[in-house]
Amino acid sequence: MTKHIFVTGGVVSSIGKGLTSASIGMLLEARGLRVRMQKLDPYINVDPGTMSPYQHGEVYVLDDGSETDLDLGHYERFTSGTLTRDSNYTTGQIYLRVIEKERHGQFQGKTVQVIPHITNEIKEAILRLADPNTDIVITEIGGTVGDIEGLPFLEAIRQLPQDLGRENCMFIHLTLVPYLKAAAEIKTKPTQHSVGQLRQIGIQPDVLICRCEQSISREEREKIALFCNVPVEAVIEEKDKDFSIYEVPMSLRDHKLDEFIVKKFGLNSHPPRLEAWDNLMYSLRNPKHEISIAVVGKYAEHKDAYKSIYESLDHAGIHHQCQIRIARIQSGDIEEEGPERLLSGYDGILIPGGFGERGIEGKVQSIRYARERDIPFFGICLGMQCAAIEFGRDVIGLASAHSTEFDKDTPHPVICLLDEQRNVTQLGGTMRLGAQPCHLMKDSAAHRAYQSDVISERHRHRYEFNNLYRQQYEAHGMRFTGLSPDGGLVEILELPNHAYFVAVQFHPEFKSKPTRAHPLFAAFVGAAMKRRSGRKQQRPMPNNSEESSKSSALTPP
Ligand code: GLN
Repeated sequence: MTKHIFVTGGVVSSIGKGLTSASIGMLLEARGLRVRMQKLDPYINVDPGTMSPYQHGEVYVLDDGSETDLDLGHYERFTSGTLTRDSNYTTGQIYLRVIEKERHGQFQGKTVQVIPHITNEIKEAILRLADPNTDIVITEIGGTVGDIEGLPFLEAIRQLPQDLGRENCMFIHLTLVPYLKAAAEIKTKPTQHSVGQLRQIGIQPDVLICRCEQSISREEREKIALFCNVPVEAVIEEKDKDFSIYEVPMSLRDHKLDEFIVKKFGLNSHPPRLEAWDNLMYSLRNPKHEISIAVVGKYAEHKDAYKSIYESLDHAGIHHQCQIRIARIQSGDIEEEGPERLLSGYDGILIPGGFGERGIEGKVQSIRYARERDIPFFGICLGMQCAAIEFGRDVIGLASAHSTEFDKDTPHPVICLLDEQRNVTQLGGTMRLGAQPCHLMKDSAAHRAYQSDVISERHRHRYEFNNLYRQQYEAHGMRFTGLSPDGGLVEILELPNHAYFVAVQFHPEFKSKPTRAHPLFAAFVGAAMKRRSGRKQQRPMPNNSEESSKSSALTPP
């Protein structure tokens, strides 16, 4: 019988439920258990695919093409399972399914209601992950207890122990235990209130994970345990990590959370095997090298907009035992201040994906700067398209080369709409999405990185390189080193005779892991390290960069 863990959050949002859930998944897998993970999001959008990065951070794309919440990125990076469409449901999706059933007459004339119809649909979504090959399903409920939107989800998980047996379900509640400087003490009242709210709904948590800035004494934990009706060993401290997010699972392990879970479920397992994680922590704590990378994007000021990219750079740093300082640079600022002022001194320049015209010229200027100065360059999706535009304009002399996304009537549409996209009018799930195979050309930087002839990577785009221009580009020295199996779509372009100039139409950042850096990120960082060590007079690090591990660390809520 599959066991279920439900993770809820209280007191404040952004308390780190995604990371904590992923860490629990990782620890249980390290004990040899088979884990599947899922997030239920209370918002009404069918998926985050149509939301602005300002609203929701990055859209994380799965192999099967679903556009999902960025917490799924944590799940895939921390655990081994590949997630599917069933790993992320929103209120929008749940209602859509119920309404479709109603339109097909499946409710046989009944009044369709939140309870039981919506809650049944939610329960089905959860149970879809429970199969004979799964020991534990971890379901994270988005939002904060007390939100109106979240109520049907909480009601559904309240009902599940009735269906499955209380002994097969566990409720883990993440809460904030603030430290009041003026009083010089931690405060447990918000936690008591939050648990009180859960109990009103009918959910008694089994475990409390307390996010805190200051350690919680045994005495305080006893107090929380007493008021919240849980055993003291189930009050787990999760102190803010100012070094790295990869410390979170280790700290939960130190507080014996995994042990508590398996005991409570009566599951047989060995102590967690964490060698790979220990090694990555060692590499992170003992860097032998240091480089700086500029990520030039439209949403640079938003910490979560390119989350997987920043993390993938960290992974490549772990791989090379290299500390990477990442500078998040607005492409619009490059347009105003010029690349020389903002980009000089970096060891590598990365242009991530994106949509819309704002900042495009800044990206094109950044790419020119990298190309002309032999600075390692990595372009991803829109970053690849901008590389094609830049090369067309400056090397081939097609002064007005552009993408039809930004200039419909350009005389040189070097990037144009994919054929399959021409008649698409509806938004949401309509791009070229998910895993697609790609054939690599031998003797290319990509082939050297992957060490493989055929790869599979995830996509999310509507536009492509225009094949009418292929010959012209090749004649001027550009190489198309990755193509779709029928040769019809350009997936990778490269400039040989350059320190590293690789741009890809797909999103490699969705497949990098802390214990297994993505080959293209590892190669890019390797090239940047080479550049740094090759520069005779070491220039100081640019001062607008920050330590990579810190940029992605848990910050106090
Ligand atoms: N806007 C571009 C396209 O749709 C690039 C998309 C992306 O970078 N994800 O093709």
